[in-house]
Amino acid sequence: MQDDFLEGAGIDTLAIRAGIHRTAEGEHAEPIFLTSSYVFASAEEAAARFDGSSPGNVYSRYTNPSVRSFEGRIAALEGAEAAVATSSGMAAILATCLALLQSGDHVLCSRSVFGTTSVLFTKYLKKFGVAVDFVALTDLSAWQAALKPNTKLLFLETPSNPLNDVADLRALAAMAKQQGCLLAVDNCFCTPALQLPLTLGADLVIHSATKYLDGQGRCLGGAVVGSKALIDEVLGVVRTCGPSMSPFNAWVFNKGLETLRLRMDAHSANAQQLAEYLHAHPQVERVFYAGLPSHPGHALATSQQRGFGGVLSFRIKGERQQAWQFINATKIMSLTANLGDTKTTIVHPATTTHGRLAPEEKQAAGITENLIRIAVGLEDIRDLIADVERGFGAVSLV
Ligand SMILES: *Cc1c(COP(=O)(O)O)cnc(C)c1O
Repeated sequence: MQDDFLEGAGIDTLAIRAGIHRTAEGEHAEPIFLTSSYVFASAEEAAARFDGSSPGNVYSRYTNPSVRSFEGRIAALEGAEAAVATSSGMAAILATCLALLQSGDHVLCSRSVFGTTSVLFTKYLKKFGVAVDFVALTDLSAWQAALKPNTKLLFLETPSNPLNDVADLRALAAMAKQQGCLLAVDNCFCTPALQLPLTLGADLVIHSATKYLDGQGRCLGGAVVGSKALIDEVLGVVRTCGPSMSPFNAWVFNKGLETLRLRMDAHSANAQQLAEYLHAHPQVERVFYAGLPSHPGHALATSQQRGFGGVLSFRIKGERQQAWQFINATKIMSLTANLGDTKTTIVHPATTTHGRLAPEEKQAAGITENLIRIAVGLEDIRDLIADVERGFGAVSLV
């Protein structure tokens, strides 16, 4: 998908130069093609566009230059042949499933996936005869044991939210090959700046562009990235079923991608400092961040990621009361479930993002009442540490 002169170019060059389609106006920045449809020079050309013999645009549910530009750029960054953009991250997952699964198929999914992803599998795909089983992300023998003859897709997120568990992508890719099924990785937390699942053997990468690809909390969007053959299947679903990306959002994401590597390194550096600070704090029971050598996924993350990302969580000494007191006392961090923003966000997983889980499920997943998640943004780290100190200062002693 990328221009020949970008062959072998570095990530920052691809992020800034891949997927540019200049018009005859010679604009330097990418234009926004805010149009739903396109005019044809003649009835002959219209007929040729419709029957596919001429490759131009017809209608923006099929193709749009701004969206195509984003698709080219994210494909280049993931080292892929092709990408298709969608209206949200969930639309990317749904379109992938509609394209590649059918009634009677079985999906194996990591238990720690994004909450709405597990609802999509258990509530909606089930209605169409697709079965799903959930396994522990890091337990390779559990994945192996749960495979069935009709397993068509392995789906996971790594590192996991909020505990930073790390999946062995090379081993799971080998398992998928052996089984003859596909491995799809939701690369939302790392982005291609920190992890390239396709180079480790995955077949598909899924993105919620809403998070770090935008990076400033403005737009909803998603993408599926992989081989041209697989992406063509997904593209067919997006064109027919309609979860297309808006051209305006595509333009925002394209601009977001230009600074992706710089931002991800800065998120990682801030998160590492905050994790180390929390790790040494007397009011903290345990920190979950794969950048800490004490984290069980540290060695694996080091072998397959360029950095550890911006999301960490920790258990404060105490119960729900102490966690809530801490959260309520912080002033800089935004109390919101979103992540992947320049603005640091803080949330209490047990009563928000993971609130739908039964108490036993929370216990098994490690989502305790004293757990706090911080998605570390790009503010000055000294101010974030001061904010965390404000939190600790407000906590009643246990
Ligand atoms: C947010 C998120 C999604 C869903 O993306 P939307 O853009 O909100 O639809 C999927 N996976 C992960 C890991 C996410 O964080």
